Amino acid sequence: MATTGQVIKCKAAVAWEPRKPLSIEEVDVAPPKAHEVRIKVVATGVCHTDCEYLYEAGTGMKLRPFPLVLGHEAAGIVESVGPQVTQFAPGDKVIPLFLPFCHECAQCKGSKTNICKKNWENAQAGVLADGTSRISCRGQQVYQFLGVSSFCQYTVVPDTSLAKIQPSAPLDKVCLLGCGVSTGYGAAVQTGKVEKDSTCAVFGLGAVGLAAVMGCKAVMAKRIIGVDINPEKFEKAKQFGATDCINPKDYDKPIQEVLVEMTNGGVDYALECVGSPSIMSAALESTREGCGTCVIAGWTETETMSVQIIKILMGRTLKGTYFGGWKSVKDVPKLVEKYMQKKLKLDEFITHNLSLGQINAAFELLRNGQSIRTVISLEDS
Ligand code: NAD
Ligand code: ZN
Repeated sequence: MATTGQVIKCKAAVAWEPRKPLSIEEVDVAPPKAHEVRIKVVATGVCHTDCEYLYEAGTGMKLRPFPLVLGHEAAGIVESVGPQVTQFAPGDKVIPLFLPFCHECAQCKGSKTNICKKNWENAQAGVLADGTSRISCRGQQVYQFLGVSSFCQYTVVPDTSLAKIQPSAPLDKVCLLGCGVSTGYGAAVQTGKVEKDSTCAVFGLGAVGLAAVMGCKAVMAKRIIGVDINPEKFEKAKQFGATDCINPKDYDKPIQEVLVEMTNGGVDYALECVGSPSIMSAALESTREGCGTCVIAGWTETETMSVQIIKILMGRTLKGTYFGGWKSVKDVPKLVEKYMQKKLKLDEFITHNLSLGQINAAFELLRNGQSIRTVISLEDS
């Protein structure tokens, strides 16, 4: 390609400081270094985690360095590859991932976990393996969110954090497998291992929660109770497979008590997809004594949840899920395949399609509870 080895000038939505709207800027994207791939980002979802990192920086989330390019739920096309990259070539369709899969560490080789820590500290600090970012604006380094930064027309990612997907996959749909849908679906089928004929409660019916409902339905759970304080989410949740939907605001007692009564003793599986410590506690307490499992998918970094020891002592299990338990690079192409075979919904999560210039509107739609997922097109408009 004509751009190989060159700095690419393109547009990005830059977060100059916490709690301020993003600003559309021209940025420079440097060529990839060893084991890095530069991709043309075609489409990106806007996830709650992007919102939290911007608006809860330093409170619920650790304070990351700014300026920052957010975005981590994307799909694109390889533009060029750096030295020593063997698995990718220009033109490949890809999904960048905030969770690596290095193939080499004990976690990647084993079957117990998907947590691979390759380049971890750097990715958390917003830089690549050499300690710098490939994006700059007005001569200043711009940090890369979780090593991805998809609110930019081009980005550079490590080759261990990139999944190659089938050429026929529609990028404006499969981008959702870069985070939200994979996380919620995996929380149910992979981490929670929800069983046939079980009773489930899903707390929070955003994209992650709806994907969890989809996972519970896929394994043929008997009862799937959606819980949300926004009743506008209920219709869609029922389309995804929720059998009942309840609003904590409609009751004058804690929602866990309502669920325990509704299910004669508690749900078999509770999936927390909100990201709030008090809801995490409620989710655990809504599970059945002796055998209930609570899976936490909601993301918060600095907060603590309170757990009554007796609840655990009496045989409940509390689990967390990062990226739905999927081994990122290896499993995402399989999820794409499932979508292509119509065994997994994606289109139904998309409530809005906007351009990069409208990114702040996409944040507002998510924060106001008006969208499930907005897909941002990175093409010039
Ligand atoms: P979202 O904002 O679209 O959905 C959250 C839902 O929770 C909304 O429908 C909201 O009305 C509901 N809610 C808020 N307060 C509630 C309450 N008190 N009781 C019940 N429902 C309540 O968010 P999303 O994009 O679906 O993400 C959900 C969570 O998952 C976030 O915390 C996000 O950071 C996290 N997440 C985790 C991972 C992971 O790897 N574990 C990956 C992606 C996202
Ligand atoms: Zn996300």
